[in-house]
Amino acid sequence: MDFPIYLDNNATTRCDQRVVEAMLPYYSQFFGNAASRSHAFGWQAEEAVEIAREQIAKSIGAEKNEVVFTSGATESDNLAVKGVFDMYASKGSHIITVTTEHKAVLDTCAHIEKMGAEISYLKVNRDGLIDLNELESMITPKTVLIAIMYANNEIGVVQPIHEISKIARKYHLLFFTDAAQALGKIPVDVNKDGIDLMSLSAHKMYGPKGVGALYVRRKDPRVKLIAQMDGGGHERGRRSGTLNVPGIVGFGKACELCMEEMEDESNRLALLRDKLEKGLLQLEQSYVNGSREHRLPHVVNMSFKYVYADQMMMDVNKDIAVSSGSACTSASVEPSYVLKALGLSDDLAHSSLRFALGRFTSEEEIDYSIQRISRSVNVLREKSIPWEMYLNEKMLP
Ligand SMILES: *Cc1c(COP(=O)(O)O)cnc(C)c1O
Repeated sequence: MDFPIYLDNNATTRCDQRVVEAMLPYYSQFFGNAASRSHAFGWQAEEAVEIAREQIAKSIGAEKNEVVFTSGATESDNLAVKGVFDMYASKGSHIITVTTEHKAVLDTCAHIEKMGAEISYLKVNRDGLIDLNELESMITPKTVLIAIMYANNEIGVVQPIHEISKIARKYHLLFFTDAAQALGKIPVDVNKDGIDLMSLSAHKMYGPKGVGALYVRRKDPRVKLIAQMDGGGHERGRRSGTLNVPGIVGFGKACELCMEEMEDESNRLALLRDKLEKGLLQLEQSYVNGSREHRLPHVVNMSFKYVYADQMMMDVNKDIAVSSGSACTSASVEPSYVLKALGLSDDLAHSSLRFALGRFTSEEEIDYSIQRISRSVNVLREKSIPWEMYLNEKMLP
């Protein structure tokens, strides 16, 4: 085993060697600008980009010309939300989203709120799922967009995408979903799922960093956007800027590999994840956060009461790379807003770790991780006064 063991695959994934190999020729040999129309260097680059566009479109059930390349899901989220807000302002500027969205959506919504948008935030239940009736009740004649992520990055919870899109259709609203964590892990199909706009990111699915895409539906309905990056009119004017040709080639290859391997991989990872979860649930006062039914196969988020996640991470980081959803601000450590939205107390939110397995995770690593995390929890609890009080209370008749 190589240490530290990487269990932070929702933050980023290792670029698959097969992806790296597909990319390499596009740095030096075929280095052309895909927008150069007058010579072979440009044509080769453009051809590679179009093959990748096809691979990506195929993996989501879309048409090639519905894929707009971006620098990643953050940019795609910005383009979707701001692009729709700018385009449909005359129709209305009410947007419905969820409190557990990625910051790339929440901060973008906060930004356009200052520009006159009205944003409604759906709550989630203890499992991290939205309530469809509540969604429907929030819709007003001014609503233009529903923005709800496919799968959550911190807890892996998968929202009822199909049902959400039915509501969007019924009221002729656009439905945007951030699928950065879903693509390549579970089946995603823009037509079956009824999605109008969708963010994707290569580095969450064994591709390179700094490249992603926004799916933009072309018919039924035809979605129009105001570009957020102006320049040479690349990507049919929807996103200017010289294309990251090697990155895009890698993204295409990564999609192709995921489509080939997803079924076996997700079955394998679900078994390993369940083993990890079961092993760690042996610890007293340990809990799984979020729905165990509606979630990604490779993710489990757990709280270990009476220990701080920070302390655990410091204790194990030579051996295991994991993360918590906490955000360090200058003054203090803020517990994860996602876990808070689920209704967790500060204490439990502060004691949670996210385990995200991936393509390169082995069973040996999971067996080791169960032992190592359990040891850490036990050792840290021995020094914890609240834990001691808990034990004393338990002893009382
Ligand atoms: C990682 C992530 C993003 C940001 O993607 P980048 O490509 O790193 O900009 C956005 N949304 C979700 C759900 C993510 O997991």
